Amino acid sequence: MENKFDLIVIGAGPGGYVAAIKAAKLGLKTAVVENREVGGTCLNRGCIPAKAMIHASSLYREIQESERFGITAPTVSYDYGKILAYKEDTSRKLSQGVEQLFQGNGVTLLNGVGTLEKTGAVTVTSGGETTSFYADNVILATGSKPLCIPIQGKDLPHVVTSDELFRLEKVPESLLIIGGGVIGVEFATVFEALGSKVTIVEALPRIIANMDKEFSQNLKMILKKRGIDIHTSATVLRLEQDGDQLACVFSEKDAEQSISAEYVLMAVGRCPNTDGLFGDGVELEMERGRVVVDAAFQTSMDYVYAIGDLIKGVQLAHAASAQGICLAERLAGVDATVDLSVVPGCVYTNPEIASVGMTEEEAKVQNIPVKTGKFIMSANGKSLITMEERGFVKVVAHAETEEVLGAQMMCARATDMIGEFGTAVANRLTVHQMLKGMRAHPTYNEAVGEALEAIAGGAIHVM
Ligand code: FAD
Repeated sequence: MENKFDLIVIGAGPGGYVAAIKAAKLGLKTAVVENREVGGTCLNRGCIPAKAMIHASSLYREIQESERFGITAPTVSYDYGKILAYKEDTSRKLSQGVEQLFQGNGVTLLNGVGTLEKTGAVTVTSGGETTSFYADNVILATGSKPLCIPIQGKDLPHVVTSDELFRLEKVPESLLIIGGGVIGVEFATVFEALGSKVTIVEALPRIIANMDKEFSQNLKMILKKRGIDIHTSATVLRLEQDGDQLACVFSEKDAEQSISAEYVLMAVGRCPNTDGLFGDGVELEMERGRVVVDAAFQTSMDYVYAIGDLIKGVQLAHAASAQGICLAERLAGVDATVDLSVVPGCVYTNPEIASVGMTEEEAKVQNIPVKTGKFIMSANGKSLITMEERGFVKVVAHAETEEVLGAQMMCARATDMIGEFGTAVANRLTVHQMLKGMRAHPTYNEAVGEALEAIAGGAIHVM
């Protein structure tokens, strides 16, 4: 086998595989090293399986609630084994699709653990054998792995991370989730819909604390109404065996409480994955476990770059891919940049939540004068048709120039609709430029036009 390439990428997640395909398309002789399934966390243990489970569980809920559309389905049930099979099949199809793209674009896939050596070579170890490969440039894209808080009882049986939760063969009767971030609340909605008694224990004063306050308040209300118990400003002290259950002991408002559940999910964040990545004597500059890079994704070692969850910044698949494309272009001699201030943040709950760019609060902190336009979904025709009339679309624009600075939405299809605002913010479009585009009727997307109209002079479908 050839052992000299223009580029070797270690890790075939959405950062690495996208970088490799882009580099190959631009004429670089490229290899990717991957020690598990192609597609990384995203396709196999993250975005895709999580959204498949959200889709199946939402469908189950929707059918149960379909009487309001005149449909009666008296005996609705699910087969969890088949839900898991559908989820795995979806991941497999996408992973195989990426392998085909590698083949089609002439990317060499090297199966095994990739290690960056002091000499700049990359060794690949598989089945006890190690082979050395060489390249002009190396991209580290080994992603992240679930984090566990170091508390007593963290190793007890039935304490799981997202990786193991995906593999559980039955729906837990009760599930206590430590961490009310995006991953925590998404799993809470899945298992609540499938019949688990779900509790969320969050150390911060609000759930999805990295997003706008209004989202946290609304989502908390909706989840509580569905029967999910939520404890905020609650610090987990320890986990204990309680018969055949696990007791989670936490302090809330200075009082100690204990709640028992069949399973405990640790959803407290993710840490960079550098297992097996560095050979003897390789000392890259690191900060809190993450590889330090400059604006061009260059590490402290010549010809070695890093992207995705492995480096500082948001840990999202689309951010990793955007970094991968930008870096591949640069390595192929294209003068490319990536604007990481316009990474959309999404939560796939019901209703969905999505945000991009600046919030009104953030603008205030930075003394930027803004105008906002908000449209409530109860006045949107499509939302009334589908009875999804909860939520809103909000636009933040500069008060004088009317340049669109950001948008936040909580409604059906918010995660799809946010794309329009990503393009607008990245290209510094104004409210009037965005309004030149016509939105089809009846669509949820009309709410985008109405929120923009609210700034331009007044939304049409409100008094
Ligand atoms: P990864 O996807 O982690 O890929 C790294 C790859 O490198 C892996 O395949 C790994 O096996 C391989 N590897 C590691 N070390 C080596 C080595 N030494 N040699 C060879 N191979 C190696 N993001 C979103 O944008 N939207 C979502 O909806 C979303 N949902 C999520 C849901 C869950 C439950 C989780 C856990 C994550 C979710 N994420 C989501 C985050 C997203 O999955 C990550 O941000 C993304 O996968 C990071 O991409 P990456 O390429 O940096 O790394």
